[in-house]
Amino acid sequence: MRVLEAFDIYRFYHVEEEETLALRGVSVYVESGEIIAVQGPSGSGKSTLLACLSGIDEPDGGYVTLMGKRITRLPEAVRAAARARYMGIMLQSGNLFDHLSVEDNILLQMHLAGRIDLKRVNELIKLVGLQHRRYARQAYISGGETARAGLAVALAAEPAVLLADEPTGEVDAETEQQILYLLNNYRENGGAVLVVTHSNAVAAFADRTIQLFDGRIVDDG
Ligand code: ADP
Repeated sequence: MRVLEAFDIYRFYHVEEEETLALRGVSVYVESGEIIAVQGPSGSGKSTLLACLSGIDEPDGGYVTLMGKRITRLPEAVRAAARARYMGIMLQSGNLFDHLSVEDNILLQMHLAGRIDLKRVNELIKLVGLQHRRYARQAYISGGETARAGLAVALAAEPAVLLADEPTGEVDAETEQQILYLLNNYRENGGAVLVVTHSNAVAAFADRTIQLFDGRIVDDG
């Protein structure tokens, strides 16, 4: 199933007289059980694409479907509810609330999606190897642990699709392997992943890699 799909999306930014064509007719889809990597130089439109796919931003042209239903140009509350129900999002930073423990961050995400599952909290914490850090706040855990906790939060509500922006950008090679293991585990259980990454290790792991340049897909492999 095509869990998430963008149809010919455009996004323009206007700053005074200047117009930036951040996305120019991008179509992309991700099916359950696959990992799609998005690569491209800085400024090629990767973050804008991720924001439009998640419904956090709205494309100026084209549209996005989530679980076969259009989310573009719907009220923000509707988009937010669809996002909480079906999407996990892991950004480069800011995935955890500073004042909450790892466990409470996971619980909050479940609460937002409307399903608290204490058994799953334990499973997730074990999966990301943070049993000894479950009551710690972000200030007291390492960068690698923060990345793994961010992934646990993104996967908390068993999303149909995971959007990840440079999930291994700030971590050492060992943590990168752990994150790849977790993404693979999610994929094998039918999860769909779209990951923006500079890492060749992550791209090598993907089922397809899409290259963006200047707001367009230049290679859809
Ligand atoms: P990437 O993530 O690949 O680095 P972005 O999606 O951040 O690329 O940016 C694509 C283009 O859109 C760039 O030229 C960037 O300067 C521009 N851009 C992104 N966000 C904004 C914004 N809020 N206002 C104006 N221009 C923007």
